[in-house]
Amino acid sequence: MPEQATSDIGSNLAAVDEQIRAACSRCGREREEVTLVAVTKTRPVAQILNAYACGVRDFGENRVEEAEEKRPIFDEEGAGHHVAADPPRWHMIGHVQSRKAATAVAVSDLVHSVGSMRLARRLDRFAGEEQRILPVLLELNVSGEESKYGFPAADDQALKVFVDEIEELQEMEHLAVRGLMTMAPIVPDAEIARPVFRRLREVRDRLRERLPWSDWSELSMGMTDDYVVAIEEGATIIRVGRAIFGPADY
Ligand SMILES: *Cc1c(COP(=O)(O)O)cnc(C)c1O
Repeated sequence: MPEQATSDIGSNLAAVDEQIRAACSRCGREREEVTLVAVTKTRPVAQILNAYACGVRDFGENRVEEAEEKRPIFDEEGAGHHVAADPPRWHMIGHVQSRKAATAVAVSDLVHSVGSMRLARRLDRFAGEEQRILPVLLELNVSGEESKYGFPAADDQALKVFVDEIEELQEMEHLAVRGLMTMAPIVPDAEIARPVFRRLREVRDRLRERLPWSDWSELSMGMTDDYVVAIEEGATIIRVGRAIFGPADY
């Protein structure tokens, strides 16, 4: 994989930002409502630092082990960039096995991918041991694809089960539920993903009424091929890798 120079990353970021602004203005939203998470999985720390130098302060990794390996290197090599004075936020966006929960707590500022109560309980426990409150999103499988992780929520029956199941989250003192995340199906045309994004927003709106103990403000949805559509459907966090760092074969 070719190394992306800072200048490439800078111009890629400018192009993505332009798209975000255009999408926001088309649907009457403010640019500030959308957080761009630069997805750094498989990318070397040098590239993460390049993105940091270009102003990025939100990074997403999808594997706990990889985040655990790269974070200390980033902190060390980033000393020259004064990263300690202005630290980025690290987002865990991929599936977290329950047995990796302690590490996930240690390396994450926001876990997007809480897809089971078993994982939620373990994150709550380890966050408690660290005397922290860990912000999390609940991952929903709204497309109904068998291969997807997350709480099943493709139809109203599944949604009812989900709502009952997550009541317990309200009592977890060391988790702060901020909203929802979904992975749209990989499709040739982003328009095909639109109903999935819309569904996540509709589910969020219902949760706001049914479970007012959270404001459910965050909607993490949209990647390189479909983030514009996701913003049009209400995304507050988009997770973008290839459009910033160049092609990858993950
Ligand atoms: C890799 C990944 C992304 C980013 O994918 P791109 O197509 O490179 O933008 C977003 N979300 C998750 C969960 C990922 O694993």
